[in-house]
Amino acid sequence: MKGICILGSTGSIGVSTLDVVGRHPNRYRVVALTANNNVDLLFEQCMAHKPSYAVLLDEIKATELRGRIKAASLQTEVLCGVSALEEVASLPEVDSVMAAIVGGAGLLPTLAAAKAGKSVLLANKEALVMSGDLFMKEVAKAGAELLPIDSEHNAIFQCMPANYHAGRRAPEVRRILLTASGGPFLNKQLHELHDVTPDEACAHPNWVMGRKISVDSATMMNKGLEVIEACLLFNLPPEQLQVVVHPQSVIHSMVDYVDGTVLAQMGNPDMRIPIAHALAWPDRFESGAEPLDLFAVGQLNFQTPDFERFPNLRLAYEAVRAGGIMPAVLNAANEVAVAAFLEQRIRFTSIPDIIEYCMVNTAQRPANTIDCVLDADKESRALADSHIFKKHSH
Ligand code: NAD
Ligand code: MG
Repeated sequence: MKGICILGSTGSIGVSTLDVVGRHPNRYRVVALTANNNVDLLFEQCMAHKPSYAVLLDEIKATELRGRIKAASLQTEVLCGVSALEEVASLPEVDSVMAAIVGGAGLLPTLAAAKAGKSVLLANKEALVMSGDLFMKEVAKAGAELLPIDSEHNAIFQCMPANYHAGRRAPEVRRILLTASGGPFLNKQLHELHDVTPDEACAHPNWVMGRKISVDSATMMNKGLEVIEACLLFNLPPEQLQVVVHPQSVIHSMVDYVDGTVLAQMGNPDMRIPIAHALAWPDRFESGAEPLDLFAVGQLNFQTPDFERFPNLRLAYEAVRAGGIMPAVLNAANEVAVAAFLEQRIRFTSIPDIIEYCMVNTAQRPANTIDCVLDADKESRALADSHIFKKHSH
């Protein structure tokens, strides 16, 4: 029986994780669940999974949850704040940590799990993009297992050589073919992108996800972040990574070997598949996903990505080539810009402008320590905020 901590249990990935875990009560015990502020869902999850700990970021919400837990005679201890996230991610009774917080807020708790030598199931790509090699070094130092949850990276992991571990260089791999659905605006012209609304951007054709990653899919920053994520997880330079637009989202990515073999991982677009893969690894068990019906799919199409309509993809390649703090700067500016777009303070097409502004106006430096990364993150957020304020406040 393994103990699991789910960071971000009330989100899209968190809910899917509990769905899979609930199918295998003899394999996993839920030790800790955490959320930002969704008391109702966290309480419901506590009733269903009886964790030892539940964490909320907000003190008032935590007090509310504590009252409801007590009234229901549950044994769950309610904690509060960022340090509590780090604490539950490092508990001795926790074997696996699902890192499913969205954005840079997940960095410290995910890093704590790695440092504690846990099996880290990584959905929170922003944490890895920000901290890059530093994160990979902590994983190696602690002997932690790093299992990708992002469907593409999980697919690549499954197609890598036998006994592959994240971070290892595989010289027999020629290229990684990273598939992209292209998002809801794949066939829109540049001028049409000017007036799209948050709801249109969040209506992904194949996947139901949180709003931040949905907007990232629409701008293709999601793919940009995934390029950086793949370089780190699979220890390859960006030149060995090709983005392939594949609108059906049936092939989740491919590995191209030096002998000409291309291995693909396929399946329905259901995040319970990569989640179940990582939870059962190195075994397999049921995920609850429907079997793939290739006759219903009919066709698989492939096209080249359009760097003109989706400048975020270019910016992400620039950031990974620049290295140092640039991936953190890119990520932070993107988080601020996406939040502003979701609040209808800026246009969809302003998102890449803000990111480029922050990248151009931040002095490059090495990302030697986590404090350097956190400083760069803070600086870029402030720069993005002031740029939005200047350009859009009147
Ligand atoms: P979501 O918005 O649905 O859920 C986010 C979770 O994080 C929630 O539980 C929320 O309470 C928590 N959270 C938010 N802000 C927080 C903060 N400041 N501090 C602590 N907790 C906080 O997001 P999601 O779609 O589940 O995505 C989670 C992560 O997984 C993201 O990094 C995303 O890129 C990645 N991912 C998601 C999918 C998907 O299908 N949803 C696929 C691949 C990768
Ligand atoms: Mg993905």
